[in-house]
Amino acid sequence: MNQPLRVRYAPSPTGHLHIGGARTALFDYLLARRHGGAFVVRFEDTDQTRHKESGIEDQLNGLRWLGLEWDESVDIGGPYGPYRQMERLDIYQTHLNQLLQSGHAYPCYCSEADLEQERAEQEARGEMGGYSGKCRHLTPEQIAAFEAEGRKPSTRFLVPADRIIGFEDKVREHVEFESNGIGDFIIARPDGIPTYNFAVIVDDHMMKINLVIRGEEHLSNTPRQILMYEALGMPVPEFAHLALILNQDRKKMSKRDESIIQFIEQYRELGYLPEAVVNFIALLGWSPGGEEEMFTKEELIAQFDLDRVSKSPAVFDMDKLNWMNNAYLKKAPLSRVVDLCVPHLQKAGYIEPQLDEAGQAWVTALIGLNQERMRFAAEIVELSSIFFKEELVIDEEAAAILKEEHVPVVLTSFLGQVEQAESFTVEAIPALLKQVQKDTGYKGKQLFMSIRSALTGQVHGPDLNVSLYLLGKEKVAARLQNLL
Ligand code: GLU
Repeated sequence: MNQPLRVRYAPSPTGHLHIGGARTALFDYLLARRHGGAFVVRFEDTDQTRHKESGIEDQLNGLRWLGLEWDESVDIGGPYGPYRQMERLDIYQTHLNQLLQSGHAYPCYCSEADLEQERAEQEARGEMGGYSGKCRHLTPEQIAAFEAEGRKPSTRFLVPADRIIGFEDKVREHVEFESNGIGDFIIARPDGIPTYNFAVIVDDHMMKINLVIRGEEHLSNTPRQILMYEALGMPVPEFAHLALILNQDRKKMSKRDESIIQFIEQYRELGYLPEAVVNFIALLGWSPGGEEEMFTKEELIAQFDLDRVSKSPAVFDMDKLNWMNNAYLKKAPLSRVVDLCVPHLQKAGYIEPQLDEAGQAWVTALIGLNQERMRFAAEIVELSSIFFKEELVIDEEAAAILKEEHVPVVLTSFLGQVEQAESFTVEAIPALLKQVQKDTGYKGKQLFMSIRSALTGQVHGPDLNVSLYLLGKEKVAARLQNLL
């Protein structure tokens, strides 16, 4: 490609950034950065029935959070704006007129009822049909009659017969369609607003887009678009159609599927790290070739290539994403993890909105204790509930331990140590435990498991000294008294 690469993500702003859109945008972004090209974000808002004004900001927020900075869009402008279609209506009108004049398009006066009838007749004959083309050759008199009835025409593109429309897709390789299977399609509605297929080619051309990356669901639109490019004498861009993303059951993902988290906003709310989500999404269809799976954005930019994007569907593996996010969380600075977790603890009512220095240190220790274990920040609430709940839930294993003979001796001795302890910090606690060992003669598992089971209700868990400090002297003493 001699021209600098120009790619675009062109969402219809109907809501939040979906994982499928995010993948398209990420692939766009990576290629643009890799090749010193431009990444354009354009809003396709001509379908006013599905349009949601907040969808524009929602989409941009999702991209922003993922760190996919764009070069041109509604907020920052650019040389080929405006970047939302409803502000480009006059541009489409010019091209629509051109198609009408050259005979590549024609007005169609068929009403919904007419079309319904046509479809029913086709069905009765066992035909699979597009539009019959019945308005292709209206006489001026017929047109005048329709106009007199007050009918407003939509505009249809005239699909030439007997054409094979082929193109080399960057992912799917050679793709071919027969024009005979495509009925004349509507490119502008009676109110003059263009349909997706028409607006998209005008925009991609005017915005000098030379590579169109999008989901496979648009593959069947591509021959229609190629025919229009040709009719307007415009060069056809390259295409890359990305295979579907399947859910964990290897079924087509529906927006209602709850087995996976589908919107980027939800990941942000649950306290995932954007770099983990980016890393994970990059692997939905792309494979780097080696064994390595962890990539920073910079590494992705250096390595990403459509040649290694698969034609087969990608399977969205939520467990893998959680594994990956945990790996990123483990490596993140504790202060960052604290910032992510604190709002969740506040929301659960576990901590006050304002913390003094001691409170801050306590929360930091609490989160630090769980940093290795959490898959995403919201999990801190569940992971740390033993430090907040008044009532202790003792699981089966812990209950079995607590029935052992030595336990009362150990706990009584520890209670004594706790009650007379002057300091109950992480540093001071080991000496208390050491003293219990001396006084009772129990050590190792018999000592630690008893205390852990009694105070956390579990046999396994994070660092015991830190756990005891986090519970605090009062809670520890109360729980021991309770049990004894
Ligand atoms: N607005 C279309 C969509 O959201 C974009 C399709 C395209 O990229 O051409 O699916």
